[in-house]
Amino acid sequence: MTTVGHLINGQIVADTERTQAVYNPATGEVTKQVSLASKATVEQAIAAAEAAFPEWRNTPPIKRARVMFRFKELLEKNAERICQLIGEEHGKIIHDAMGELQRGIENVEYACGVPELLKGEHSKNVGPNIDSWSEFQPLGVVAGITPFNFPAMVPLWMFPMAIACGNCFILKPSERDPSSTLYIAQLLQEAGLPDGVMSVVNGDKEAVDTLLHDPRVQAVSFVGSTPIAEYIYRTAAANCKRCQALGGAKNHAIVLPDADIDNAVNQLIGAAFGSSGERCMAVSVAVTVGDATADALILKMREAMAKLKVGHYQDKQNDFGPLITREHQQKVIGYIDSAQEQGAQVVVDGRHVQVSACEGGFFVGGTLIDQVTPDMRCYKEEIFGPVLLVVRAQNMKQAMQLIDDHEYGNGTCIFTRDGEAARYFSDNIKVGMVGINVPLPVPVAYHSFGGWKRSLFGDLHAYGPDAVRFYSKRKTVTQRWPSSGVREGAEFSMPTMK
Ligand code: NAD
Repeated sequence: MTTVGHLINGQIVADTERTQAVYNPATGEVTKQVSLASKATVEQAIAAAEAAFPEWRNTPPIKRARVMFRFKELLEKNAERICQLIGEEHGKIIHDAMGELQRGIENVEYACGVPELLKGEHSKNVGPNIDSWSEFQPLGVVAGITPFNFPAMVPLWMFPMAIACGNCFILKPSERDPSSTLYIAQLLQEAGLPDGVMSVVNGDKEAVDTLLHDPRVQAVSFVGSTPIAEYIYRTAAANCKRCQALGGAKNHAIVLPDADIDNAVNQLIGAAFGSSGERCMAVSVAVTVGDATADALILKMREAMAKLKVGHYQDKQNDFGPLITREHQQKVIGYIDSAQEQGAQVVVDGRHVQVSACEGGFFVGGTLIDQVTPDMRCYKEEIFGPVLLVVRAQNMKQAMQLIDDHEYGNGTCIFTRDGEAARYFSDNIKVGMVGINVPLPVPVAYHSFGGWKRSLFGDLHAYGPDAVRFYSKRKTVTQRWPSSGVREGAEFSMPTMK
């Protein structure tokens, strides 16, 4: 059986002492093993990155950008292979994997503009014959730790910009679906990146903890669940590292009485069930304003959900695939059970879905639950499955209060024809990314991505302009040349412009 290894200093290597099974979630079969890096292996990657840094930081940004241009072409040329690997190990349908990859490629396109993005700020004559400027220098060795649900896109949020800014990068992808990520890193190597600038170490907590504690690692980007995000942020801070840690979500969609219900249903069905709900921006709660809105929405959702197709990633007719593991499938089913036990009404039940020729797969069908209240476990916690809850509010104020009171603040949206209501909503809601009649308001690559509250620890968001700042440090230089003829005596008070 194949063992997925690491990419260190331009070479594929593997730890054989500890490995973990990789599954095809559509069939439930073990297809590969992934090597789990030891502390010593991660330290090799850090040493390689440190050795590569002096030359890479001095490589002109335009040349660093050219590597990214070639990388983009290779990603496009090999898109089918990448998406096949995503399907095999994650289970998402090929068209959805293509969408994820395209969103990732857009981050590479943004990184191609790095000479422009790294331009500093210059002020002439800040004093007599004195000029001053700020420039943005790379940090050194930086690390990224990524989740299973976007094995291509989320790593691409991080390393193209980090590397374009002149850093060396160590990526610790999810051990559950490691192959597409490793292959993408090999394509970057093929694009002409010098050895050691980018390493991939597969592994678990041991690899992560090594990166968090090693003083040579200057900064850590993390995307994953909230408990781990908090642990990463606290540990990185305790070790004096810059850190951004993006966590979980519970994204609410408000449906106002004036909304175009047919449109809202179409949008919600894709946003709730696409990728089996395993997206941090998936809509998992519909908050209806008024009982008539709730009844109309549920009626149309039932009709639309009867046509949902769940199955194998290779069948393009399918809408979504399985969940990532048997354990996660059971966890999602447990949330549906708990909702029922706590008095909610399961309107469409995906617990017993049958997928022919995939009997061992980790499937849960699309599920719709009405009469959910904020005290229920299914409402309070992130389910991360194809489950849409309906919470009935009586007015918009109540609907917004629910969102503001929730511990997560990643994404939200509102369906309405009322511009004034939409403006009030986007202005005041305590959430980082807001959609107006747009269910998945994932910012494009030239904006930045990040939630509020316990959906993000840190201040700078992921990718876009914030990534340029996250992966660089400001240096401000003030200069005067004696040849200007100005000579001043010793000055003991704070220099000012008199
Ligand atoms: P996870 O937190 O289990 O794992 C994320 C990463 O952390 C993996 O690389 C994993 O190996 C590592 N990890 C896991 N346990 C660890 C531990 N105890 N110590 C150190 N490292 C550890 O998340 P997941 O299940 O892979 O991904 C799903 C979660 O990610 C969901 O909660 C989802 O909302 C979140 N997510 C958030 C965003 C966002 O942008 N906010 C995007 C994608 C996914």
